[in-house]
Amino acid sequence: MALIVHKYGGTSMGSTERIRNVAKRVAKWVRAGHQMVVVPSAMSGETNRLLGLAKEVSPEKATPQTMRELDMIASTGEQVSVGLLALALQAEGVAAVSYSGWQVPVKTDSAYTKARIESIDDARVRADLAAGRVVIITGFQGIDGDGHVTTLGRGGSDTSAVAVAAAMKAAECLIYTDVDGVYTTDPRVVPEARRLPVISFEEMLEMASLGSKVLQIRSVEFAGKYRVPLRVLSSFTPWDIPLAEEAASGTLITFEEDEKMEQAVVSGIAFNRDEAKVTIMRVPDKPGIAYQILGAVADANIDVDVIVQNVSHDGKTDFSFTVHRNDYARAIDLLKTKVGPALEANEVVGDAKICKVSIVGIGMKSHVGIAAKMFRTLAEEGINIQMITTSEIKTSVVIDEKYMELAVRALHKAFDLESPQAA
Ligand code: ADP
Ligand code: ASP
Ligand code: MG
Repeated sequence: MALIVHKYGGTSMGSTERIRNVAKRVAKWVRAGHQMVVVPSAMSGETNRLLGLAKEVSPEKATPQTMRELDMIASTGEQVSVGLLALALQAEGVAAVSYSGWQVPVKTDSAYTKARIESIDDARVRADLAAGRVVIITGFQGIDGDGHVTTLGRGGSDTSAVAVAAAMKAAECLIYTDVDGVYTTDPRVVPEARRLPVISFEEMLEMASLGSKVLQIRSVEFAGKYRVPLRVLSSFTPWDIPLAEEAASGTLITFEEDEKMEQAVVSGIAFNRDEAKVTIMRVPDKPGIAYQILGAVADANIDVDVIVQNVSHDGKTDFSFTVHRNDYARAIDLLKTKVGPALEANEVVGDAKICKVSIVGIGMKSHVGIAAKMFRTLAEEGINIQMITTSEIKTSVVIDEKYMELAVRALHKAFDLESPQAA
């Protein structure tokens, strides 16, 4: 008997019929003798619908006050889900109780719409488990120190589940979703993508941070920090497949790098359309300039990702960086009205139609020429690279958004990700 956490995403909870299916699957685990905590998302489309309603009422700029209310609204999607799942389990003859984040409580900081979990009190959950109940906890939401409801950012139910698993010291956290594991790239973009039976924690962290939305990045960070055994698997297999078969399916995120894994130089390709590029032209090339520009951007609470400073001509240089698209207008405005004039820069230009494509693999640590192969592949497709950034286990390029799918497919092929991995 073990304590297991299941997480079900929006599609998996997408209708009452699917919720009944989830209940049957969870009941199977209960009957096998496990203590179960289940963390569901809102039904698919529900969070978008709720945020859409909010926008209809208040299209204005976000302020701390409006963001508080957004969390109040968006968090209700998950509350409906937990209640429905508890009812469905009870209908299966399984004792179950549902809780909102504040009832557990799941304590977070006060950063509305992107709050971070600080602690989870396990007393109430343990008491229910001891009494033989399945405990169903809302994903995506928590409560801050002043009692305000918060949400954890889009895709945040993954993080709720892993955080609950860490707090409860669960034997495993199983993330049930609408694909049967983590693939070499998004199978909706490249149908030839291949499921990885195992992926290293480091690679999963990169894939998630570079845009693979199969797991929210913070959930992977949590899993790493607390060593939570984590698996991504399908909620669309028949609920009555043998439990041992289900428990071994999907993709295991492993903390051990074995020799077999090192054979794959590139394990996966991630992409991200959420960024925009801004350039401040002809600023003086002298000490302190990067700080003056990026310091002002950081003060405005805008996160910067890729940064490029060009070589200078006649003591002047162009300075480019990428920001989240949601912050694009604010970044341009800040550069045009404040930073640019202070530096006597000529011009500020921007491009929101960019994307970032990345190759990821721990094998890159010990192989040379991988980045060159990436650049050659893109050149052969006639794709211009605007920016490059590398780390030990990834290389990312910023390119025109309209070439994204072409680039991902070409790279997937060039790095042999379609063929079965040598055993
Ligand atoms: P859920 O609602 O279950 O949280 P998400 O839509 O958040 O599901 O995440 C699952 C989706 O992630 C898949 O449907 C797939 O399109 C996408 N995805 C992106 N990159 C990958 C990848 N490398 N492997 C698997 N799925 C991926
Ligand atoms: N319901 C939230 C969202 O749509 C959280 C999640 O599904 O993980 O982003
Ligand atoms: Mg998700």
